[in-house]
Amino acid sequence: MNTESTIQSATVAAPFQVLLYYRYVPIEDPAAYVKSHRELCENLNLRGRIIIGKEGINGTVSGATEETNRYIEEMKASPLTSEMEFKIDPSDDHVFPKLSIKLRTEIVSLGLEDESDINPNETTGERLSPREFYEAMQEDDVIIIDGRNDYEAALGHFKDAVCPDIGNFREFPDWLKKNAEELKGKKILTYCTGGIRCEKLSGLIRNEGFEDVYQLDGGIVKYSKDPEVQGRDFDGLCYVFDQRVGVEVNHTETRKIISHCRYCGEEEPHFGNCKWPDCNEQIFVCPSCREEHGLFCGESCREEAAKPAQAD
Ligand SMILES: [Zn+2]
Ligand SMILES: [Zn+2]
Repeated sequence: MNTESTIQSATVAAPFQVLLYYRYVPIEDPAAYVKSHRELCENLNLRGRIIIGKEGINGTVSGATEETNRYIEEMKASPLTSEMEFKIDPSDDHVFPKLSIKLRTEIVSLGLEDESDINPNETTGERLSPREFYEAMQEDDVIIIDGRNDYEAALGHFKDAVCPDIGNFREFPDWLKKNAEELKGKKILTYCTGGIRCEKLSGLIRNEGFEDVYQLDGGIVKYSKDPEVQGRDFDGLCYVFDQRVGVEVNHTETRKIISHCRYCGEEEPHFGNCKWPDCNEQIFVCPSCREEHGLFCGESCREEAAKPAQAD
């Protein structure tokens, strides 16, 4: 997690690019794939986080524009990943400190037993384009579910969305059981950052017996880049798991910041983590309150941090 970050805005013809991508595709020998993939990424000096499993690949990387473009070419040339869609953000620099490629049983986990896990290639919600999703949000009897964690939704979410009080995607099956009553008879729309979590989440909702289930194809990131909707009706910023922390989504007149300084209540889109390591809570503190209170969530953390360090 980042300790302190600033929000970057996109620049034209940037020297670096940030890629976000995934593909649910059976990988026969994921361990061997990790090895060859690591070689490819190291040769291209990429940094970021990639998860590989027998159900597919999930990644976000940063690199020099030329090298990220070569990476995309290489992936498109491989039959396994030729259909993969890349979301590209220009950047001034790397947004990750290093490269991490991990082998996991699942690339996104709902924490379900093997046999009840969702295979999005078999069960998933109907995909809506940004424009279709925007139009569906205007209908009556629609429920919009934020498919991310509570701290992500705190920085920004769709207007009128239900933002579940969960800190991990694995809590969704329980949340769904507890809230099933409220979803009955509604058209259900789900969205997440880049679309990968919704593939499983909307499948899970279908499995629970709901039929009218839809997902935002390509997630908030694609919705933001769509020339027609341009992020309309997304409030706040999109949380991203890199040094940028939050990125702009809404390029229309409906744009607004929803996060506020916890001390004075001023609009504050910059994110930090409470400096007391045992707490590390993600907080919004405006620059002047940061000067007065430090980057702490409250007095108790500030006092803890001020105590002399104990000898081991
Ligand atoms: Zn303040
Ligand atoms: Zn704290």
